[in-house]
Amino acid sequence: MNTLYGKTFAELEEITKTFGFPKFTAKQISEWLYKKHVDSIDGMTNLSKKQRDTLSENFTLGLSAPVNVQISADGTKKYLYKIAEHRYVEAAYIPEDERATLCISSQVGCKMGCEFCATGKQGFQQNLTACEILNQIRMLPERDTLTNVVYMGMGEPLDNLDEVLKTNEIMTAEYGFAWSPKRVTVSTIGLLKPLKQFLDSSDCHLALSMHNPFEDERAAFMPVQKAHRLSEVMDLIRTYNFYGQRRFSVEYIMFQELNDTERHAAELARLLRGINGRVNLIRFHAIPDSKLQGSTYERIENFQNFLKDKGIVTTIRKSRGQDIDAACGLLSTKELVKVKTEYADF
Ligand code: SF4
Repeated sequence: MNTLYGKTFAELEEITKTFGFPKFTAKQISEWLYKKHVDSIDGMTNLSKKQRDTLSENFTLGLSAPVNVQISADGTKKYLYKIAEHRYVEAAYIPEDERATLCISSQVGCKMGCEFCATGKQGFQQNLTACEILNQIRMLPERDTLTNVVYMGMGEPLDNLDEVLKTNEIMTAEYGFAWSPKRVTVSTIGLLKPLKQFLDSSDCHLALSMHNPFEDERAAFMPVQKAHRLSEVMDLIRTYNFYGQRRFSVEYIMFQELNDTERHAAELARLLRGINGRVNLIRFHAIPDSKLQGSTYERIENFQNFLKDKGIVTTIRKSRGQDIDAACGLLSTKELVKVKTEYADF
């Protein structure tokens, strides 16, 4: 059944119009959904009984609690949400000092096939709806402590652009959560057309998963490179303003001797010329069935120092939740493996 949660204000107006409800009902419903966090349609008590019955006959709310959680010694929690039979996504809650970030998923699996990614190895199963993306926030037990949301969970958000834009609208619009767009970061490997659409229609931050500044080397472990060239992605990004509220960052996972040399750092610095962007360095942690190895801390620091000397703000991302399969896709992959094993037993 169609869900009410995840509907934009325009969609709620459409719904109320269809059922002949007064115009102001859309505002009442949006307040129940996104401000008062109602947990049933019947709980929308300023709607008439008849209106609630009509809505219940045609919609579910669409909320579902996580089915599993793993808790790390460092406070990181990884929640597993069930989307459909044998289909799961993950959201990682990462508290740190004054901040608490939720890493959300936009797809079940992913088509992009990046060599280093557990989600990529699952293959693609389905896009999430705005309801299913927002549900990861709405049903998070720590929801009220959240300061930031990043699309760095399962899936490539720009491959599910319509639902991601709707979700961002609901997070940032006055009728929705009314968050500042500065609290939301969309992370992409760089799909040209939807990237332009995203940059034109949203003020949320942008993170680009680059991982190698040389196109031929990048193509060897990120197939996207063949269709969406890094040089074109950077040329596009260069035409937008990142000197104001909106921030641009490069995500760079470091692989021993593959992308962590001075030659790579120099090329990355060159690509960033004329763009106000920062770099986040992330040490790679091994995933099953991959020969890739993470760089040593010494090599990561050398890389960082080289970029800093060029005037580029460069941070080394702390490893979080290593004891709980923190790499996105691992927990849901395990769930899938469990399912496959169960079937194999029959
Ligand atoms: S890194 Fe992102 S885009 Fe690449 S396969 Fe994994 S989820 Fe997909």
